[in-house]
Amino acid sequence: MDTKTNLYDLSFADLIQFLADLGEPKFRAQQIWHWLYQGYAADVHEMTNLSKGLREKLATAVTIQPFVPVTTQHSSDGQTKKVLFRLPDGQYVETVLMRYEKRRTLCISTQAGCAMGCVFCATGQMGFFRHLRVSEIVAQVLYFARELAASGEHVTNIVMMGMGEPLHNYENTLTAVDRLTAPDAFNLGARKITISTVGLVPAIRRYADEQRQTPLAISLHAATDAERNKLIPINKRWPIADLMEAIRYYIAQTNRRITFEWALIHGQNDTLQQAQKLGELVQGLLCHVNLIPLNPTAGFAGGPSSLERVEAFQQELARYGVSSTVRVRRGIDIQAGCGQLRDRVLREAEAEKLRIDVQVQSGE
Ligand code: SAH
Ligand code: SF4
Repeated sequence: MDTKTNLYDLSFADLIQFLADLGEPKFRAQQIWHWLYQGYAADVHEMTNLSKGLREKLATAVTIQPFVPVTTQHSSDGQTKKVLFRLPDGQYVETVLMRYEKRRTLCISTQAGCAMGCVFCATGQMGFFRHLRVSEIVAQVLYFARELAASGEHVTNIVMMGMGEPLHNYENTLTAVDRLTAPDAFNLGARKITISTVGLVPAIRRYADEQRQTPLAISLHAATDAERNKLIPINKRWPIADLMEAIRYYIAQTNRRITFEWALIHGQNDTLQQAQKLGELVQGLLCHVNLIPLNPTAGFAGGPSSLERVEAFQQELARYGVSSTVRVRRGIDIQAGCGQLRDRVLREAEAEKLRIDVQVQSGE
């Protein structure tokens, strides 16, 4: 394990204190903070307005990038790029960059694995390893910000839809959000960062009480408890009625629209009956529904709905006055669904290990 302090784990006040302990004045903290969040420095040696002596001192005490990229993949259309990072303790983090017209949207992870066990999700299938630290969340964004800056571009949107359940790692995720939106730090508009949750009811209430400006998306995927229990185990703890009550509370507190995510699984939750149940459930609510044909995963037998079924579902929703958008699955050829790249890389490593074992056994 790396025992050095990662600079992205520090608040500005922490950084001032950290430097004071090294005998450095406050304005050094301002310089370093600027290098981190606006200069996108990847190494203290890039901080050219610091003395060489201070840079050397810092190099022995701190890190900036908390992980190393191990695999990078580009989709065939070149618009989506996925990076798998390895953390010092052997965990993995996935981040995806999606280019769409003028948007540069990052899909970032908040945990290594996930404890929620949704059956259709590659991350849920691998189980939970640990929460990501603030630095490990923030650095995913800065890594791509640096890369985009090289071609005169910048991150325009962030979705917390990579590995993990953001509201299960509430403190670190929201501290990272605060850092990414702070005008003196990364300075991205709060409305440009979407938090997606499986529906952790107490956390949604807390989020509402904190009057957060970052949009909230709820992964609903089924409109009856009988159906949702089969897909999302946490529904047994917080069933749909409790979830809807928390959502109504959120809307009342913030006056903000909620987004529902619905992965359409052929023959399972794409029936007209489920569309009607969903219509009844959310009719009149300040909301929008995103319909996403399922991204198939190794551990789940279900497949995506056909385009006809997607359209029929959408039309049925419209009868209830519920607006929806069909989202295309971007980067499907590069395992861009959450958890899928780590899954593939480890599977290939395992296959390679088996191959070596076989060679050793057969004396090759
Ligand atoms: N844990 C959070 C955020 C990460 S998952 C959540 O569940 O909301 C991001 C989104 O991807 C969620 O809406 C999730 O339901 C969806 N998702 C997971 N696996 C999927 C798959 N195989 N196909 C389509 N969407 C999937
Ligand atoms: Fe976790 Fe979200 Fe995947 Fe469910 S869908 S297992 S909450 S990452």
